[in-house]
Formats: sequence, structure tokens, C-alpha cells
Amino acid sequence: MSEILMKPLTDRGVAYLLFDSPNRSVNVLSQTAMVELERAVDEISRNRDVRALVIGSAKEGTFIAGADVNAIGALTDATAAREASRRGQAIYGKIAALPIPTVAAINGICLGGGTELALACRYRIAADDERVSIGLPEVNLGILPAWGGCTRLPRLIGIEAALPMILTGAPATARRALKIGLVDALAAPAGLLHAAAQLAIEGMPPRRLRRSFLVGLPGGPALIFRTAKKRVLAKTHGQYPAPIEALDVVRRGFASTEAESLEMEGEAFARLVTGDVARRLVGLFFQMESNKRSVEEPASPTKRGAVVGAGVMGAGIATLLVRKGIPVRLRDVAHDRVGAGLARIREAIDERRRKGDLTDAAARSRRALASGTVDWIGFGNVDFAIEAALEDLAIKRAIVKDLEACLPPSAIIATNTSSLSVAAIAEGASRPENIVGLHFFNPVDKMPLVEVVLAPRTSNEAATKAFALAKRLGKTPIPVRDSPGFLVNRLLFAYVGEAIAMYEEGTTASEIDAAMQGYGWAMGPFRMLDEVGLDVALAVARILAKAFPATAGSPRLIEAMVQAGKLGKKSRGGFYGRNRKEDASVRGLASSSRESAGTVSREEIVERLTLPLLNEAARALEEGVVNSASRIDLAMVLGAGFPPFRGGPMALADDWGAAAVVEKLRARAERIGTRFHPAALLVRMATLWERFHGGGTQSHGAPATAG
Ligand code: NAD
Repeated sequence: MSEILMKPLTDRGVAYLLFDSPNRSVNVLSQTAMVELERAVDEISRNRDVRALVIGSAKEGTFIAGADVNAIGALTDATAAREASRRGQAIYGKIAALPIPTVAAINGICLGGGTELALACRYRIAADDERVSIGLPEVNLGILPAWGGCTRLPRLIGIEAALPMILTGAPATARRALKIGLVDALAAPAGLLHAAAQLAIEGMPPRRLRRSFLVGLPGGPALIFRTAKKRVLAKTHGQYPAPIEALDVVRRGFASTEAESLEMEGEAFARLVTGDVARRLVGLFFQMESNKRSVEEPASPTKRGAVVGAGVMGAGIATLLVRKGIPVRLRDVAHDRVGAGLARIREAIDERRRKGDLTDAAARSRRALASGTVDWIGFGNVDFAIEAALEDLAIKRAIVKDLEACLPPSAIIATNTSSLSVAAIAEGASRPENIVGLHFFNPVDKMPLVEVVLAPRTSNEAATKAFALAKRLGKTPIPVRDSPGFLVNRLLFAYVGEAIAMYEEGTTASEIDAAMQGYGWAMGPFRMLDEVGLDVALAVARILAKAFPATAGSPRLIEAMVQAGKLGKKSRGGFYGRNRKEDASVRGLASSSRESAGTVSREEIVERLTLPLLNEAARALEEGVVNSASRIDLAMVLGAGFPPFRGGPMALADDWGAAAVVEKLRARAERIGTRFHPAALLVRMATLWERFHGGGTQSHGAPATAG
């Protein structure tokens, strides 16, 4: 089966190459596709009748999702990596060198190698469609665009617009792409190919780049590069080599010839792709893809949603539904709360319109999808309801009863509880099989993880529908068993509990936070507690202390802080005051008020906090709270801020080696306390020389895309 359709030449001599990867929902630049592309371009260059070339997609709403990540993951040798980059560059170079006008017709997702292909064309035209997303996400995989992206993008749109795209991987919408000169024109989706041919034949005067005055000043570009580097370092703390290498390639490449710049891309790519960071990030990508593939299509996808509770979480979840075009009924107990929830949804949609992600008409129709109520009217045709009211068992049970009375019998009820047992919430329900947990994280729009909590009586149908809905809302759903703290909070609190223990021994919150942030966490444990709110943390800490008395830390200090009104950021501060400085008075609430633990090294802090997390992860795996080490890695990276470049806790345990983990745990069990006793699974793995992720490398499974 062919990867590229070559349509017959039109009367005006326009040739069309349409990508259509067989058996895939998106087009991927596999090795076969690249060979076919080269052959087609060679053929076109020999054919005198061809007067223009349009490169598009035969798939609806997707142009090219990128290179084949399996092939990227398989590059473990620098020479082969250099060659892979050279091959792609050569093929795209042939397109760029064609003497006829060439146009990329971008009808949807256009990423990585897809964008680089478009950059090799003379013109780019995109569908005026929300599905269009043009970007170079390579840095997210620990690599950089090396099929001409680092070279051609800055030359096309200028360094100021190109750098953020290359260094953060953030994609542009169709409208934004037009604004920055990444595409030359927009066209109605249905007429895109026709408009592309028109553009090829009629051409277009070169567009003047809108550059800031800075670029023209002597020393201006140098300043732009310096500022960009500062920004990258502030975000990555120097732990991700890809954006720094990419910045360097763009800087040097921009001042060199195109051929020299391409050479630099290839060299940097070969260094990065064979490094540890890329290996781990690519590993996480495969886990994400394989998790996505495991989500089955339900017999009837969600058509109408309802959300009960219009607070922070409820309004956030309702916004997600509306954004995906699902009508939603929002219920709260008072009119002003419903009004505030609806206003939040409207604001979120308007913000997307302002950013150019939504047209005025699309924003209007999205807003119209949300309606509110203080009673239970309008629930009769809802097929999926999500409860996000207060964290109180009696209230949640009462809501389930109310919902069962007004929903159709087949409707699914999901609870967004963060700490209660889903089975307990379902107790007394007349259809407990329809009840499932859907644990979103705060802030809902940003956090990519959802724990799908499966209670013993949750039916397959309810689970399937919950997984599919979470996926449709753009989240990564991870199945977890209905047990205290589910997965993420249980593991996170093992780590937070140890942070508090160290604090009580006299180490300061700032020292601990600095050590963990230095290790790559998005923020340290105490900043995180302040962000989440000590009251919210207390509910979870209490449940975990009760469920796992031998290992979970004591919630005593958190309790004392809540009593003192120190709830974190939302109140008069927590571990840190309003001035963001550590609040020394919190130490007075600790059981031991030691001022100092003496000098504790950063390495010791990191090991003290990381070991309980790894130990608890092994226990959760042993108990079947989660069914694979990969899912633990994904969940902790996406839901808890575990450093992605370390690949997740289980990947880290593999790097340290089970034997070393067990030894470190035993040493601390002797010195600090029995809570460090190694999990049986770790001990067994240490004896048998086993790893959480089989063999030497990750198993890749079925094909994956991006980058
Ligand atoms: P919130 O206080 O912001 O909102 C709760 C809303 O529920 C309030 O508007 C309240 O009026 C409403 N409510 C109370 N009883 C109701 C009823 N019978 N019917 C309809 N509405 C009712 O709380 P939140 O932070 O949005 O949390 C909601 C749920 O999500 C809780 O179960 C919480 O544990 C869970 N959760 C919270 C977070 C978080 O970080 N905030 C994260 C994950 C899960």
C-alpha cells in the first residue's frame, strides 16, 4: 500500500502529492513514506509538464504528525543518527530546489517533520480550521528539528518568532501562523487544495517580515539570543540539553550559509538523540502513546454531559466538555455559584477566541453549550454526569441518589473525589455498576492526567466510557484501583511526608525545596503544599495516615497549620508568607522545634525524599493499585511534576538499580525509622537483578508518531 497518492496532472499542470499513511489515523513520515516522497519528487523534477506542485494530505483534518518516533527511538548510534538527519535534509533539499512553485496545503495537525516539509516548500497555505496546529515539538522529545527546521524557520519568520517555537515546541494555530508569516494564506477547509493550486500558479509577492526594531540594532540579535537563553535556563535549570543546543544551532546557523546550518542541525541531533535525556523522554512518549491506544471506543460515546458542583474543579471540567463540543448542564446549590461557574466557562472560551484559537462563531456556539441550574431539571437526556461537589461522603452519596433519580438508567456517574473511596460513594446507589471515579487534577485545563478509579462494582461499560471521555477531553487516563490516595496522591504523600519529617528535624523548607527543584521537580514539596492548600492536603494526609500507618507520615504539622489558619497561597500563607519568604513561625508549630539539623547535603535530601516514593510505588505495583511500571512513570510525571527527564520514578529506580535502592532503604531503615523497610517487590527484584522496564530499552510496541 502506498503512503503517498499522486493525483493525475491537472490541465494547468498542477501535480498533487497527498500523504495517506495506510492503517493509521494520522500521516507519519516513516522510512517508506520518505522513500516514496523522494521518488515522487524526482519524477516531478523530470516531468516537463508539471508547472506547480501541491503537497497535502488525503486524511481529514490532519496534514503530517511528524517523523516516526519508533525510528527516532531506534537511533542509538551517532553515525546512524547523523545519516538519518542528512537523508531527510537531502529529500527536503530536493523539494526546495525544484524550479517550479511548491505549496504545502496544511489541513490540520502539522508537526515536526511535517512542518519542516512545509518549510521546504515555496508557499504554505492552511485551512482556516481549529484543527490546524503547526509546530516543531522536537525539544519535548529531547531532540531538535534536524530536517531543516532550525535553519529554515528563522529565515522565514525571523529569529524572534522562530525561537519560541523551536525552544518550547509550542505550536501555532492557523491564524497565528498567518500573523507571524509561517503560512502565506488561509483558505476554507473544503477549498484548501484548490486554493493551494491557485496560489502555486498565481504566486504571491514576498511578504515583508514584521520585525521588532531590536533585530535591526547593532547587537540586537545577540541580545535576543541572550534573553532566549536566560528564559530557557530559568525554565529547565540546565537539565534539558535540547533547547540549549537548538538555540546554539539557530544562533550560529543564522550567521552561516544554509548548508552549514543544516550540518550543525545534524551534528546536534546526533549528540542529543543518543543521550540519556532523549532516551527517557522518548520512552515516556511511547508510554503515552501505548496508554492512548489501550483506550477502547465505547458502544455509545458521550453525547450530553452534566457537572454537579460549579466550583474550581466543576467549572474547569465543564469548560473542557464545552471546548470539545459536548453540551453540559452545570448544577450547584445556589444561583450565584451557578452564575460564577458559567461565567468562568465563558471567560475561558473568550480567552481562546482572543488568542485566535476560536472564530467568533465557534466561540458563540461553544458558549451556548453550557447551561446552569440549581435543581435537577434538564438531566433527563444526560448520558455522563461528573460530580465535583464538596469532599464529603454524605454530600456525595446524596448527589448520587439525586442523579440516579433524574438521569436515564444507562447514564454513567463519575466522581471527581480526590480522597474518598469510590465504592463508599456508590454504597446505597441503585446502580453502583454505573459509578466510576474520574480524578482530575488542579488546574484542570493544564494538568494532563486523569486517574480513572475502578471500584469493585464498576462495570466495564462505565470504565470504557470514562476512559474514552477523558481521552476526548485531551487527557491521559490511567486506570487505578479504588484504594486510599489512588496512585498519585499515595506516592506523592510518601515523598511529602518525608519532607515534613526532615523539616521537623530542623532542615528548612527552602533548603528542601531548593534541593528538589534542583533535582528537576517543577516545584519543591513545600511550595507545592502551599499551592494545593494545606486544608486540601490535610484531607488526603489523614486518609493515608489511617490506611498506611506504618509508612505514611503523620499529618500533625499540617493539622496545626490548618488550625492556625495557614492554608497556603489562598490564605495568609503557609510554609511561605505573602512575600514568598519562608515563614519562620511555622517551625513553632512543629512537634520538635529544632532550629537546625546541621548541614544536610542536597544529595541526602534528594535520597531521603525519593526513596519513600520509589518504595511506595513498588508497593502500589505489588498490590495491583496500578497494573504497570510505565503507568506509574506517566502518572507521576504528568500528575505530580516528577522530573520528566528522569523518565519517572520506576525509570529512576532502574537507573539506580533495585539492589542500590534496597541498600539505600535498608541503611535509612536502621538510621531513621522502620518506614524505610524496602518493599518485598524491590527486595525480590534486587535478588533477581530485575528491572521495572524490561531488558535494556523500553519496549516500543506499535508505531507512534510526533516530533
Ligand atoms: P469548590 O469548593 O471550589 O467547589 C465545590 C462546589 O460544590 C461549591 O460551589 C459548592 O456550592 C458545590 N456544592 C456543594 N454541594 C453541592 C450539591 N449538593 N450539589 C451541587 N453542588 C454542590 O471545590 P473544588 O476544589 O472544586 O473541589 C470539588 C471536588 O473535586 C472535591 O471532591 C475535591 O476533593 C475534588 N478535587 C479537588 C481538587 C483541587 O485541587 N481543588 C483536585 C482534585 C479533585
